[in-house]
Amino acid sequence: MQNRKLVDRFGRTKTYLRVSVTDRCNFKCVYCMPEGGIEKFQRDDILSFEEIEKIVCSVIPIGIEKVRLTGGEPLLRQGLPELVASLKKIDQLQQVSLTTNGALLAKYSDQLKQAGLDSINISLDTLNPERFERITQTPFFLQTMEGIEAALAAGFPLKINVVPLKGTTLEDVLDLIQFAIQHQIEIRFIEFMPLCGSGWSPEKVLPIPMIRSWVEEHFDLQSIERGREVAESYKIAGTQAQVGFIASLSEPFCSTCNRLRLSSNGKIRPCLFSTLEFDLLKKLRDGASTEEIQNIFLWGAWNKPEGHPYRKMKIPSSEKTSSSEGALIRNIGG
Ligand code: SAM
Ligand code: SF4
Repeated sequence: MQNRKLVDRFGRTKTYLRVSVTDRCNFKCVYCMPEGGIEKFQRDDILSFEEIEKIVCSVIPIGIEKVRLTGGEPLLRQGLPELVASLKKIDQLQQVSLTTNGALLAKYSDQLKQAGLDSINISLDTLNPERFERITQTPFFLQTMEGIEAALAAGFPLKINVVPLKGTTLEDVLDLIQFAIQHQIEIRFIEFMPLCGSGWSPEKVLPIPMIRSWVEEHFDLQSIERGREVAESYKIAGTQAQVGFIASLSEPFCSTCNRLRLSSNGKIRPCLFSTLEFDLLKKLRDGASTEEIQNIFLWGAWNKPEGHPYRKMKIPSSEKTSSSEGALIRNIGG
């Protein structure tokens, strides 16, 4: 901790901060939201844009280079393009990006582009409208597709995030890849993770190595150097598209993790899976100086666990899911 850089006790530096701007969402994805919904934070307990900006300015000198805005659904936060614009004015912040379900992108893409947003990741688990409605528990399929179109038209580099579940079929996967090829974008398959309220169990996981083998059977994949990226990415030969695989459980990448998280109520979380949190909100509102904010981050980073608790778990991988077995998704949320 002596040189005031975000580094943990295992020597991993932190350069990437995920900032949740709201805990609210207009979707209720079965792998994310509990059946009974979530207990929402009080409005007063949510970081203001000025507070987020102050925090980001404070952590750049100690190593943060990239910020991703997320949620809940970040586009539900009133005035998000203004936050993007103010973050983009911060010297030495290399990138500001967004992860969204896409349903509000038709409305906000142009404003986000004008604000200087660098790139967008959009969650889209299937191209089948009925299946989409079952997974997200919303009627917003068309709205989401229009959102993707708008983001493409605005010229954003896009990645599509897919969380395959037991019940996801080979057809779903191939359709999504064709969609990525058609639009010359990257599609990433993310292993279903045991996050709070996700109703996770090992039997509901469709292991990412299995998805990768499905894809390899149908496409020629050319490996791309991974660096400290969470996804193992490939160029799909003969196309402008890429496919990525994020196998947090089957093939954990904890040893290279460069991320820290800030929740919308001002808690620093060193790891997505950890219950360990460092409260910044109170300190901030008590008038913490830049150095004090940095100290809390340095301490949070230092205490990042070596790896997540599920990294040694065996995920059943032998079961095959055929196109006719696509009906389990409905029950996965609870
Ligand atoms: N609402 C936005 C969205 O869906 O893109 C941003 C927040 S969402 C929590 C961020 C990402 O986490 C999405 O790509 C989503 O698919 C993924 N996610 C949510 N729950 C997950 C789980 N249990 N396992 C794996 N990925 C999950
Ligand atoms: Fe909302 Fe994103 Fe969670 Fe789906 S994955 S419920 S869109 S926060």
